[in-house]
Amino acid sequence: MSIIEKTEAIVLRSVDFRESSKIVTFYTKKFGKIAGIVKGAKQAKNKYGSSLEPMSYVSLVFYYKEGRDVQTVSSCDIVKPFRKLSDDLDKMAVGMSIIELLNNVTPDRHENVQLFAHVINSLNSINSATKNVKNLFFYFEYHLARLLGFGLQFESCVQCKKILSHVIDNDRYHYSIDRGGLICSQCADITGTKFEMTSEILKTFREIYSSNNIDLIIETEISNMNKEIIHNFLWTYLRYHLPNLYSLKSLTVFGKII
Ligand SMILES: [Zn+2]
Repeated sequence: MSIIEKTEAIVLRSVDFRESSKIVTFYTKKFGKIAGIVKGAKQAKNKYGSSLEPMSYVSLVFYYKEGRDVQTVSSCDIVKPFRKLSDDLDKMAVGMSIIELLNNVTPDRHENVQLFAHVINSLNSINSATKNVKNLFFYFEYHLARLLGFGLQFESCVQCKKILSHVIDNDRYHYSIDRGGLICSQCADITGTKFEMTSEILKTFREIYSSNNIDLIIETEISNMNKEIIHNFLWTYLRYHLPNLYSLKSLTVFGKII
């Protein structure tokens, strides 16, 4: 017995199946990640347009059957086109990296409405950004960690518990990956997996990435050296919490995020 369901979704992956069909992986608002077969998709190109391409934001109708790994798609229509994601190579690189990362970290059929909203907001912001689009990849990662339950903490020292009311320029800060928090300059000698963090990078996290202020994020100029440090730090942090996380193919295909 199948039930007809409707939900918003983002297309993660699309592969050809037999002569005429496609199997599409969706990250849906109501059901989390699901796979669906779109029968006749290759013949009915006009009907589907770009709605089965990765990064498409769609309204999906499908027949849901409990216990089935691949559901049957009835219709898939674009909700809002993100045209610039396929026209601009930098935007495509960031968008595809986000989609690949999302596919990588989400289990099947585990809904997370806030994460869904974060993905839509991120893709929409990348689409409309006028500069520094790569900054938005770090924005995605930063809030992804929070929405998966292991958010970063930059407000107080994880060792002495002192609240950091402001960051002192040229002071020595670290981030303890295993303790899950910032280490102030007085506690810098404690052992464990820690990541050195300059005052400039710490400010970038506290003042820019912790906010949802997209304008501020894309207006911020980050040096290539700092981008590389931020990238390595966030990736190490995500890998610590998600040990099965593999390197993103999109970053290799499109060149580094930096
Ligand atoms: Zn301390």
